Amino acid sequence: MDCRTAESMVTRFIDHSLSVNELEEFLDHIETCPSCYDELETYFIVHEAMQQLDEKEDGTVLDFKKLLEQEIRRSRRSIRQTRGIRFTVGLISMAAAVALCVFVIFVILGV
Ligand SMILES: [Zn+2]
Repeated sequence: MDCRTAESMVTRFIDHSLSVNELEEFLDHIETCPSCYDELETYFIVHEAMQQLDEKEDGTVLDFKKLLEQEIRRSRRSIRQTRGIRFTVGLISMAAAVALCVFVIFVILGV
């Protein structure tokens, strides 16, 4: 992925509207590209700061850089979970197909 593509994905990352594959490529890029990470950090801080203004003013100052790191870790986890679920579903469907074949063979053989 190049920097232009990564930069175009920043707002979609913040809105959680990237697909799993896009998200993974995006994270791979920003983790190795300091200038895109800075770009993301700036957008993220502005976004979070505005949300905080909307919600409540209780005087707490959030550590936005830490929040972004948490968000990136959370995204990585969600990629792994989505992949894990797909893998498990794939295995179960395969096992079910095999079981069905075995069943059909037994019925045909009249055992
Ligand atoms: Zn870049």
